[in-house]
Amino acid sequence: MESDESKNDVTSIESCNSVWIFDTQTMEFKRRIRNLSGETEDVSTDWRPYFGLNVDESSKSFVVQLNESGTRLLKSFIHKDPCTRCSESNTTEISLEEINRVLGPRE
Ligand SMILES: [Zn+2]
Repeated sequence: MESDESKNDVTSIESCNSVWIFDTQTMEFKRRIRNLSGETEDVSTDWRPYFGLNVDESSKSFVVQLNESGTRLLKSFIHKDPCTRCSESNTTEISLEEINRVLGPRE
């Protein structure tokens, strides 16, 4: 594990396909792409400066301010459990499993 993520001044937000790590002291952030397949290692972006972070709890979204004037913004959605945004693919996988269980192993 990377030691910089255990610091107290680091905030992390989980979105559906990545973990966003914000260092509130140096005002830098990076994204770690979540490894959902289990076949490859997680990929992290480099640390990039940011100028503000706005979390909207009601809509479960957040906005990262990429420049000082706030004209460059990055918006993403917070992953929650259960998550409507990524439950669709999970449901598909579960129902395929269910179908196989009902039909039994095919020859
Ligand atoms: Zn999700």
